[in-house]
Amino acid sequence: MPVEKVDTIVVGGGQAGIAMSEHLSKAGIPHIVFERSRIAERWRSERWDSLVANGPAWHDRFPGMEFSGIHPDAFAPKDKVAQYFEDYAKKIAAPIHCGVEVKKVERLNGAPGFRVETSQGLLEANNVVAATGPFQNPAIPRIVPDDLNILQIHSAAYRNPGQLPEGAVLVVGAGSSGVQIAEELMRAGKKVYLSVGPHERPPRAYRGIDFCWWLGVLGKWEAATRGPGMEHVTIAVSGARGGHTVNFRHLASQGMTLVGLTESFADGTIFFKGDLAENLAMGDGSYLALLDEADAYVARNGLDLPADPDARKILPDPKCVTHPIRQLNLAEAGVTAIVWATGFTSDYSWLKVDAFDDQGRPRHHRGVSSEPGVYFLGLSWQSRRGSAFIWGVWHDAKLIADRIDTHRKYLEYRMPARAAE
Ligand SMILES: Cc1cc2nc3c(=O)[nH]c(=O)nc-3n(C[C@H](O)[C@H](O)[C@H](O)COP(=O)(O)OP(=O)(O)OC[C@H]3O[C@@H](n4cnc5c(N)ncnc54)[C@H](O)[C@@H]3O)c2cc1C
Repeated sequence: MPVEKVDTIVVGGGQAGIAMSEHLSKAGIPHIVFERSRIAERWRSERWDSLVANGPAWHDRFPGMEFSGIHPDAFAPKDKVAQYFEDYAKKIAAPIHCGVEVKKVERLNGAPGFRVETSQGLLEANNVVAATGPFQNPAIPRIVPDDLNILQIHSAAYRNPGQLPEGAVLVVGAGSSGVQIAEELMRAGKKVYLSVGPHERPPRAYRGIDFCWWLGVLGKWEAATRGPGMEHVTIAVSGARGGHTVNFRHLASQGMTLVGLTESFADGTIFFKGDLAENLAMGDGSYLALLDEADAYVARNGLDLPADPDARKILPDPKCVTHPIRQLNLAEAGVTAIVWATGFTSDYSWLKVDAFDDQGRPRHHRGVSSEPGVYFLGLSWQSRRGSAFIWGVWHDAKLIADRIDTHRKYLEYRMPARAAE
Protein backbone atom coordinates (compact mmCIF):
# COMPACT_ATOMS: atom_id res chain seq x y z
CA MET A 1 0.00 0.00 0.00
CA PRO A 2 1.55 3.37 -0.95
CA VAL A 3 1.67 5.77 2.00
CA GLU A 4 -0.15 9.09 1.60
CA LYS A 5 2.27 12.00 1.30
CA VAL A 6 1.49 15.58 2.26
CA ASP A 7 3.82 18.54 2.38
CA THR A 8 2.96 19.74 5.89
CA ILE A 9 0.96 18.33 8.73
CA VAL A 10 -0.25 20.49 11.59
CA VAL A 11 -0.97 18.76 14.88
CA GLY A 12 -3.78 20.43 16.85
CA GLY A 13 -6.96 22.20 15.78
CA GLY A 14 -7.07 25.04 18.27
CA GLN A 15 -6.41 28.68 17.41
CA ALA A 16 -2.77 27.88 16.56
CA GLY A 17 -3.63 25.10 14.11
CA ILE A 18 -6.29 27.23 12.42
CA ALA A 19 -3.97 30.24 12.07
CA MET A 20 -1.29 27.94 10.67
CA SER A 21 -3.73 26.54 8.13
CA GLU A 22 -4.71 30.02 6.97
CA HIS A 23 -1.13 31.05 6.27
CA LEU A 24 -0.17 27.74 4.67
CA SER A 25 -3.18 28.02 2.33
CA LYS A 26 -2.27 31.60 1.43
CA ALA A 27 1.22 30.40 0.50
CA GLY A 28 -0.25 27.51 -1.54
CA ILE A 29 1.32 24.86 0.70
CA PRO A 30 -0.63 21.57 0.76
CA HIS A 31 -1.34 20.54 4.33
CA ILE A 32 -3.62 18.66 6.72
CA VAL A 33 -4.52 19.66 10.27
CA PHE A 34 -5.13 16.76 12.68
CA GLU A 35 -7.24 17.40 15.77
CA ARG A 36 -7.77 14.49 18.13
CA SER A 37 -11.06 15.86 19.34
CA ARG A 38 -13.07 18.88 18.10
CA ILE A 39 -12.01 22.33 16.87
CA ALA A 40 -11.03 24.52 19.86
CA GLU A 41 -11.65 21.60 22.21
CA ARG A 42 -9.97 23.23 25.18
CA TRP A 43 -12.37 26.16 25.09
CA ARG A 44 -15.27 23.69 24.99
CA SER A 45 -14.45 21.13 27.64
CA GLU A 46 -11.33 22.07 29.58
CA ARG A 47 -12.39 25.40 31.09
CA TRP A 48 -14.90 26.47 33.71
CA ASP A 49 -18.52 27.26 32.84
CA SER A 50 -18.52 31.02 33.41
CA LEU A 51 -15.19 31.73 31.70
CA VAL A 52 -15.14 34.67 29.31
CA ALA A 53 -12.19 35.90 27.26
CA ASN A 54 -9.73 38.01 29.21
CA GLY A 55 -9.54 40.57 26.44
CA PRO A 56 -12.39 42.44 24.71
CA ALA A 57 -13.88 41.04 21.51
CA TRP A 58 -12.30 43.78 19.34
CA HIS A 59 -8.89 42.59 20.53
CA ASP A 60 -9.00 38.85 21.27
CA ARG A 61 -9.55 37.67 17.70
CA PHE A 62 -7.79 37.05 14.39
CA PRO A 63 -7.40 40.05 12.04
CA GLY A 64 -9.61 38.46 9.36
CA MET A 65 -12.92 38.18 11.25
CA GLU A 66 -14.83 39.94 14.02
CA PHE A 67 -16.98 38.20 16.62
CA SER A 68 -20.61 38.19 15.66
CA GLY A 69 -23.34 39.00 18.17
CA ILE A 70 -21.01 40.55 20.75
CA HIS A 71 -20.22 44.22 21.33
CA PRO A 72 -16.56 44.81 20.42
CA ASP A 73 -15.88 46.08 23.96
CA ALA A 74 -17.51 43.04 25.61
CA PHE A 75 -15.78 39.83 26.67
CA ALA A 76 -16.77 36.73 24.68
CA PRO A 77 -18.04 33.75 26.70
CA LYS A 78 -15.96 30.62 26.16
CA ASP A 79 -18.59 28.92 23.97
CA LYS A 80 -18.60 31.94 21.66
CA VAL A 81 -14.83 31.73 21.45
CA ALA A 82 -15.06 28.07 20.41
CA GLN A 83 -17.79 28.94 17.88
CA TYR A 84 -15.60 31.77 16.54
CA PHE A 85 -12.81 29.32 15.73
CA GLU A 86 -15.20 26.82 14.20
CA ASP A 87 -16.64 29.57 11.97
CA TYR A 88 -13.17 30.80 11.12
CA ALA A 89 -12.02 27.31 10.10
CA LYS A 90 -15.06 27.10 7.79
CA LYS A 91 -14.40 30.54 6.35
CA ILE A 92 -10.85 29.67 5.35
CA ALA A 93 -11.85 26.08 4.37
CA ALA A 94 -9.16 24.72 6.67
CA PRO A 95 -8.46 21.04 5.92
CA ILE A 96 -9.00 19.91 9.51
CA HIS A 97 -9.52 16.23 10.24
CA CYS A 98 -11.21 16.03 13.63
CA GLY A 99 -11.11 12.92 15.80
CA VAL A 100 -7.66 11.95 14.54
CA GLU A 101 -4.83 11.77 17.05
CA VAL A 102 -1.23 12.01 15.98
CA LYS A 103 0.45 9.20 17.89
CA LYS A 104 4.01 9.34 16.66
CA VAL A 105 6.23 11.44 14.42
CA GLU A 106 9.73 10.25 13.56
CA ARG A 107 12.34 10.96 10.92
CA LEU A 108 12.27 8.94 7.73
CA ASN A 109 15.38 6.88 7.24
CA GLY A 110 17.63 8.04 4.41
CA ALA A 111 14.96 10.36 3.01
CA PRO A 112 13.83 13.85 3.89
CA GLY A 113 10.73 14.30 5.99
CA PHE A 114 8.84 12.39 8.62
CA ARG A 115 6.76 9.29 9.17
CA VAL A 116 3.50 10.29 10.84
CA GLU A 117 1.51 7.67 12.69
CA THR A 118 -2.09 8.69 13.40
CA SER A 119 -5.04 6.92 14.98
CA GLN A 120 -6.29 6.44 11.42
CA GLY A 121 -3.17 5.33 9.60
CA LEU A 122 0.24 6.34 8.32
CA LEU A 123 1.41 9.35 6.32
CA GLU A 124 4.64 10.97 5.25
CA ALA A 125 5.23 14.70 5.54
CA ASN A 126 8.06 17.10 4.75
CA ASN A 127 7.14 19.37 7.64
CA VAL A 128 5.40 18.96 10.97
CA VAL A 129 3.98 21.88 12.97
CA ALA A 130 3.27 21.05 16.62
CA ALA A 131 0.30 23.28 17.48
CA THR A 132 -0.80 21.34 20.54
CA GLY A 133 -1.05 24.32 22.83
CA PRO A 134 0.88 26.17 25.51
CA PHE A 135 -1.26 24.65 28.27
CA GLN A 136 -1.42 20.87 27.82
CA ASN A 137 -1.23 18.84 31.02
CA PRO A 138 -2.57 20.29 34.29
CA ALA A 139 0.30 20.61 36.80
CA ILE A 140 -0.37 20.11 40.51
CA PRO A 141 2.65 20.47 42.80
CA ARG A 142 3.13 17.49 45.13
CA ILE A 143 2.39 19.27 48.38
CA VAL A 144 -0.82 17.85 49.83
CA PRO A 145 -1.17 14.03 49.84
CA ASP A 146 -4.00 12.51 47.77
CA ASP A 147 -5.35 10.33 50.57
CA LEU A 148 -6.77 13.18 52.71
CA ASN A 149 -10.53 13.50 52.86
CA ILE A 150 -10.34 16.64 50.73
CA LEU A 151 -11.29 17.24 47.12
CA GLN A 152 -8.26 18.38 45.14
CA ILE A 153 -8.79 19.52 41.55
CA HIS A 154 -6.85 21.51 39.01
CA SER A 155 -8.33 24.70 37.54
CA ALA A 156 -8.71 22.79 34.23
CA ALA A 157 -11.17 20.44 35.99
CA TYR A 158 -13.05 23.17 37.89
CA ARG A 159 -16.49 23.92 36.41
CA ASN A 160 -18.61 25.83 38.96
CA PRO A 161 -19.12 26.30 42.73
CA GLY A 162 -21.76 23.53 42.86
CA GLN A 163 -19.05 20.99 42.07
CA LEU A 164 -17.31 21.52 45.42
CA PRO A 165 -18.42 19.97 48.72
CA GLU A 166 -19.85 22.15 51.53
CA GLY A 167 -17.12 23.97 53.43
CA ALA A 168 -14.24 26.36 52.88
CA VAL A 169 -11.91 26.19 49.89
CA LEU A 170 -8.24 26.99 49.33
CA VAL A 171 -7.40 28.25 45.85
CA VAL A 172 -3.69 27.99 45.14
CA GLY A 173 -2.39 30.40 42.51
CA ALA A 174 -3.59 33.91 41.80
CA GLY A 175 -3.00 34.30 38.10
CA SER A 176 -6.02 35.01 35.91
CA SER A 177 -7.52 31.53 36.47
CA GLY A 178 -6.99 31.33 40.23
CA VAL A 179 -8.23 34.81 41.01
CA GLN A 180 -11.34 34.44 38.83
CA ILE A 181 -12.22 31.06 40.33
CA ALA A 182 -11.60 32.33 43.88
CA GLU A 183 -13.86 35.33 43.29
CA GLU A 184 -16.61 33.15 41.81
CA LEU A 185 -16.47 30.83 44.83
CA MET A 186 -16.59 33.74 47.27
CA ARG A 187 -19.57 35.28 45.48
CA ALA A 188 -21.29 31.88 45.74
CA GLY A 189 -21.03 32.21 49.52
CA LYS A 190 -17.97 30.11 50.23
CA LYS A 191 -15.20 30.92 52.66
CA VAL A 192 -12.17 31.28 50.39
CA TYR A 193 -8.44 31.29 51.10
CA LEU A 194 -6.38 32.49 48.13
CA SER A 195 -2.67 31.72 47.95
CA VAL A 196 -1.05 34.63 46.11
CA GLY A 197 2.39 34.34 44.51
CA PRO A 198 4.43 36.85 42.46
CA HIS A 199 2.21 38.46 39.84
CA GLU A 200 1.60 41.45 37.62
CA ARG A 201 -1.84 43.04 37.57
CA PRO A 202 -2.58 45.60 34.90
CA PRO A 203 -5.57 47.92 35.28
CA ARG A 204 -8.57 46.58 33.36
CA ALA A 205 -8.90 50.04 31.84
CA TYR A 206 -7.15 53.37 32.29
CA ARG A 207 -8.23 56.81 31.12
CA GLY A 208 -11.24 55.09 29.58
CA ILE A 209 -9.42 52.51 27.46
CA ASP A 210 -8.84 48.79 28.02
CA PHE A 211 -5.34 47.69 29.02
CA CYS A 212 -5.07 45.50 25.88
CA TRP A 213 -4.95 48.73 23.91
CA TRP A 214 -2.37 50.26 26.21
CA LEU A 215 -0.15 47.18 25.96
CA GLY A 216 -0.49 47.42 22.19
CA VAL A 217 0.36 51.10 21.76
CA LEU A 218 3.17 50.85 24.30
CA GLY A 219 4.67 47.95 22.31
CA LYS A 220 4.41 45.54 25.24
CA TRP A 221 2.69 42.68 23.42
CA GLU A 222 5.70 42.72 21.09
CA ALA A 223 8.28 42.41 23.90
CA ALA A 224 10.60 39.58 22.85
CA THR A 225 11.69 38.37 26.28
CA ARG A 226 10.60 38.61 29.89
CA GLY A 227 12.64 40.79 32.16
CA PRO A 228 15.24 39.03 34.33
CA GLY A 229 13.68 37.14 37.25
CA MET A 230 10.18 37.38 35.72
CA GLU A 231 10.00 33.77 34.41
CA HIS A 232 7.57 32.61 37.11
CA VAL A 233 5.54 35.78 37.39
CA THR A 234 1.92 35.34 36.36
CA ILE A 235 -0.55 37.97 35.16
CA ALA A 236 -3.86 38.52 36.95
CA VAL A 237 -6.62 39.92 34.74
CA SER A 238 -10.34 39.30 34.46
CA GLY A 239 -13.04 39.85 31.88
CA ALA A 240 -15.68 38.42 34.23
CA ARG A 241 -18.87 40.42 34.87
CA GLY A 242 -18.04 43.00 32.22
CA GLY A 243 -14.36 43.16 33.17
CA HIS A 244 -12.68 44.72 36.19
CA THR A 245 -9.21 45.31 37.58
CA VAL A 246 -8.00 42.47 39.79
CA ASN A 247 -7.71 44.11 43.20
CA PHE A 248 -6.59 41.73 45.94
CA ARG A 249 -7.21 44.19 48.76
CA HIS A 250 -10.77 44.68 47.55
CA LEU A 251 -11.30 40.92 47.53
CA ALA A 252 -9.98 40.76 51.09
CA SER A 253 -12.36 43.56 52.13
CA GLN A 254 -15.21 41.36 50.86
CA GLY A 255 -14.16 38.43 53.01
CA MET A 256 -11.50 36.54 51.08
CA THR A 257 -8.45 35.56 53.11
CA LEU A 258 -5.21 36.11 51.23
CA VAL A 259 -2.15 34.01 52.08
CA GLY A 260 1.37 33.81 50.63
CA LEU A 261 2.81 31.13 48.37
CA THR A 262 1.77 27.58 49.37
CA GLU A 263 4.95 25.88 50.49
CA SER A 264 4.47 22.61 52.35
CA PHE A 265 2.13 20.34 54.28
CA ALA A 266 2.47 18.27 57.44
CA ASP A 267 -0.01 16.62 59.84
CA GLY A 268 -3.13 18.19 58.37
CA THR A 269 -1.61 21.68 58.28
CA ILE A 270 -0.62 23.61 55.19
CA PHE A 271 2.21 26.18 55.41
CA PHE A 272 2.50 29.43 53.46
CA LYS A 273 5.55 31.55 52.70
CA GLY A 274 5.71 34.97 54.39
CA ASP A 275 5.78 36.73 51.02
CA LEU A 276 2.20 37.98 50.68
CA ALA A 277 2.95 41.70 51.23
CA GLU A 278 5.94 41.47 48.89
CA ASN A 279 3.84 39.80 46.18
CA LEU A 280 1.09 42.41 46.47
CA ALA A 281 3.73 45.16 46.30
CA MET A 282 5.08 43.63 43.09
CA GLY A 283 1.57 43.62 41.61
CA ASP A 284 1.05 47.25 42.67
CA GLY A 285 4.42 48.19 41.19
CA SER A 286 3.54 46.73 37.79
CA TYR A 287 0.11 48.36 37.94
CA LEU A 288 1.43 51.85 38.77
CA ALA A 289 4.29 51.56 36.25
CA LEU A 290 1.76 50.93 33.48
CA LEU A 291 -0.25 54.01 34.53
CA ASP A 292 2.96 56.07 34.40
CA GLU A 293 3.83 54.79 30.93
CA ALA A 294 0.29 55.43 29.74
CA ASP A 295 0.42 59.01 31.08
CA ALA A 296 3.76 59.58 29.36
CA TYR A 297 2.29 58.25 26.10
CA VAL A 298 -0.70 60.59 26.41
CA ALA A 299 1.59 63.58 27.03
CA ARG A 300 4.01 62.67 24.23
CA ASN A 301 1.21 62.28 21.70
CA GLY A 302 -1.05 65.07 22.94
CA LEU A 303 -4.00 62.67 23.28
CA ASP A 304 -7.30 63.92 24.56
CA LEU A 305 -8.07 61.18 27.12
CA PRO A 306 -9.78 61.97 30.44
CA ALA A 307 -7.52 62.02 33.51
CA ASP A 308 -8.15 59.10 35.89
CA PRO A 309 -6.75 60.04 39.31
CA ASP A 310 -8.91 57.42 41.11
CA ALA A 311 -6.95 54.68 39.35
CA ARG A 312 -3.94 55.56 41.53
CA LYS A 313 -5.75 55.02 44.82
CA ILE A 314 -4.52 51.85 46.51
CA LEU A 315 -6.67 50.50 49.35
CA PRO A 316 -5.04 50.07 52.78
CA ASP A 317 -3.59 46.67 53.56
CA PRO A 318 -6.20 44.34 55.09
CA LYS A 319 -5.50 42.36 58.25
CA CYS A 320 -4.59 39.20 56.32
CA VAL A 321 -1.71 41.20 54.80
CA THR A 322 -0.53 43.03 57.94
CA HIS A 323 -0.87 39.86 60.06
CA PRO A 324 -0.43 37.08 57.50
CA ILE A 325 -1.50 33.53 58.20
CA ARG A 326 1.56 31.32 57.81
CA GLN A 327 -0.15 28.01 58.54
CA LEU A 328 -3.65 26.63 58.25
CA ASN A 329 -4.95 23.44 59.77
CA LEU A 330 -7.33 22.31 57.04
CA ALA A 331 -9.77 20.45 59.30
CA GLU A 332 -9.95 23.28 61.87
CA ALA A 333 -10.51 25.85 59.09
CA GLY A 334 -13.21 23.63 57.56
CA VAL A 335 -11.36 23.41 54.24
CA THR A 336 -12.95 20.61 52.21
CA ALA A 337 -11.52 21.43 48.78
CA ILE A 338 -8.36 22.73 47.18
CA VAL A 339 -8.36 24.17 43.66
CA TRP A 340 -4.87 24.17 42.19
CA ALA A 341 -4.61 27.00 39.66
CA THR A 342 -0.95 26.20 39.26
CA GLY A 343 -0.45 26.05 35.53
CA PHE A 344 0.35 23.39 32.99
CA THR A 345 3.19 21.29 31.62
CA SER A 346 3.67 20.16 28.06
CA ASP A 347 3.66 16.68 26.53
CA TYR A 348 5.50 16.06 23.30
CA SER A 349 5.97 12.33 23.85
CA TRP A 350 4.57 11.72 20.34
CA LEU A 351 7.28 13.86 18.71
CA LYS A 352 10.36 11.63 18.46
CA VAL A 353 12.80 14.12 16.96
CA ASP A 354 15.81 16.15 18.01
CA ALA A 355 13.91 19.29 18.98
CA PHE A 356 14.09 19.29 22.78
CA ASP A 357 16.55 20.31 25.44
CA ASP A 358 17.63 18.01 28.27
CA GLN A 359 14.56 19.03 30.26
CA GLY A 360 12.20 18.14 27.42
CA ARG A 361 11.47 21.77 26.51
CA PRO A 362 11.16 22.70 22.82
CA ARG A 363 14.52 23.88 21.46
CA HIS A 364 13.59 26.52 18.94
CA HIS A 365 13.98 30.07 17.72
CA ARG A 366 10.66 31.77 17.07
CA GLY A 367 9.07 28.35 16.59
CA VAL A 368 11.70 27.04 14.16
CA SER A 369 13.07 24.01 15.97
CA SER A 370 16.52 22.48 15.99
CA GLU A 371 15.16 19.56 13.92
CA PRO A 372 14.86 20.82 10.32
CA GLY A 373 11.24 20.51 9.21
CA VAL A 374 9.75 20.58 12.73
CA TYR A 375 8.07 23.74 13.99
CA PHE A 376 6.32 24.76 17.21
CA LEU A 377 3.42 27.17 17.37
CA GLY A 378 1.47 28.76 20.23
CA LEU A 379 4.19 28.50 22.87
CA SER A 380 4.29 31.11 25.62
CA TRP A 381 6.79 33.78 24.61
CA GLN A 382 7.50 31.93 21.37
CA SER A 383 8.54 35.14 19.66
CA ARG A 384 6.89 37.80 21.83
CA ARG A 385 4.62 38.33 24.82
CA GLY A 386 1.50 37.91 22.67
CA SER A 387 2.56 34.52 21.22
CA ALA A 388 0.26 32.26 23.25
CA PHE A 389 -2.74 34.54 22.88
CA ILE A 390 -5.35 34.60 20.13
CA TRP A 391 -4.08 37.65 18.25
CA GLY A 392 -0.38 36.81 18.76
CA VAL A 393 -0.42 33.26 17.46
CA TRP A 394 -1.77 34.42 14.12
CA HIS A 395 1.37 36.49 13.52
CA ASP A 396 3.69 33.69 14.61
CA ALA A 397 1.91 31.29 12.24
CA LYS A 398 2.64 33.71 9.39
CA LEU A 399 6.30 33.66 10.26
CA ILE A 400 6.41 29.85 10.20
CA ALA A 401 4.48 29.62 6.92
CA ASP A 402 7.00 32.06 5.38
CA ARG A 403 9.82 29.88 6.60
CA ILE A 404 8.30 26.68 5.19
CA ASP A 405 7.57 28.45 1.90
CA THR A 406 11.11 29.78 1.58
CA HIS A 407 12.54 26.33 2.25
CA ARG A 408 10.24 24.77 -0.35
CA LYS A 409 11.44 27.31 -2.90
CA TYR A 410 15.08 26.38 -2.26
CA LEU A 411 14.21 22.71 -2.75
CA GLU A 412 12.32 23.48 -5.98
CA TYR A 413 15.26 25.36 -7.45
CA ARG A 414 17.34 23.45 -9.95
CA MET A 415 20.62 24.84 -11.29
CA PRO A 416 19.84 25.98 -14.87
CA ALA A 417 21.91 24.10 -17.50
CA ARG A 418 24.97 26.25 -18.13
CA ALA A 419 25.25 27.56 -21.66
CA ALA A 420 27.92 25.76 -23.62
CA GLU A 421 31.15 27.64 -23.16
C1 LIG B 1 -8.24 29.47 31.37
C2 LIG B 1 -7.62 30.09 30.16
C3 LIG B 1 -8.16 31.25 29.62
C4 LIG B 1 -7.58 31.85 28.51
N1 LIG B 1 -8.13 33.00 28.02
C5 LIG B 1 -7.57 33.60 26.96
C6 LIG B 1 -8.14 34.80 26.43
O1 LIG B 1 -9.11 35.30 26.95
N2 LIG B 1 -7.55 35.38 25.35
C7 LIG B 1 -6.46 34.82 24.76
O2 LIG B 1 -5.97 35.38 23.77
N3 LIG B 1 -5.90 33.70 25.24
C8 LIG B 1 -6.43 33.07 26.31
N4 LIG B 1 -5.86 31.92 26.80
C9 LIG B 1 -4.60 31.45 26.21
C10 LIG B 1 -4.74 30.71 24.86
O3 LIG B 1 -5.45 31.52 23.96
C11 LIG B 1 -5.45 29.39 25.01
O4 LIG B 1 -4.72 28.57 25.88
C12 LIG B 1 -5.66 28.64 23.69
O5 LIG B 1 -6.48 27.52 23.92
C13 LIG B 1 -4.35 28.16 23.06
O6 LIG B 1 -4.64 27.71 21.74
P1 LIG B 1 -3.73 26.69 20.97
O7 LIG B 1 -4.34 26.41 19.65
O8 LIG B 1 -2.31 27.13 20.99
O9 LIG B 1 -3.79 25.38 21.89
P2 LIG B 1 -5.05 24.53 22.34
O10 LIG B 1 -6.27 25.32 22.42
O11 LIG B 1 -4.58 23.80 23.55
O12 LIG B 1 -5.23 23.52 21.12
C14 LIG B 1 -4.39 22.42 20.90
C15 LIG B 1 -5.24 21.31 20.30
O13 LIG B 1 -4.36 20.23 19.99
C16 LIG B 1 -5.07 19.02 20.15
N5 LIG B 1 -4.07 17.96 20.30
C17 LIG B 1 -3.16 17.80 21.29
N6 LIG B 1 -2.38 16.73 21.06
C18 LIG B 1 -2.79 16.20 19.86
C19 LIG B 1 -2.36 15.08 19.09
N7 LIG B 1 -1.33 14.32 19.47
N8 LIG B 1 -3.01 14.83 17.92
C20 LIG B 1 -4.03 15.62 17.51
N9 LIG B 1 -4.48 16.69 18.22
C21 LIG B 1 -3.86 16.97 19.38
C22 LIG B 1 -5.92 19.28 21.40
O14 LIG B 1 -7.06 18.45 21.42
C23 LIG B 1 -6.29 20.76 21.25
O15 LIG B 1 -7.56 20.95 20.66
C24 LIG B 1 -6.43 31.27 27.91
C25 LIG B 1 -5.88 30.10 28.44
C26 LIG B 1 -6.48 29.51 29.56
C27 LIG B 1 -5.85 28.25 30.14
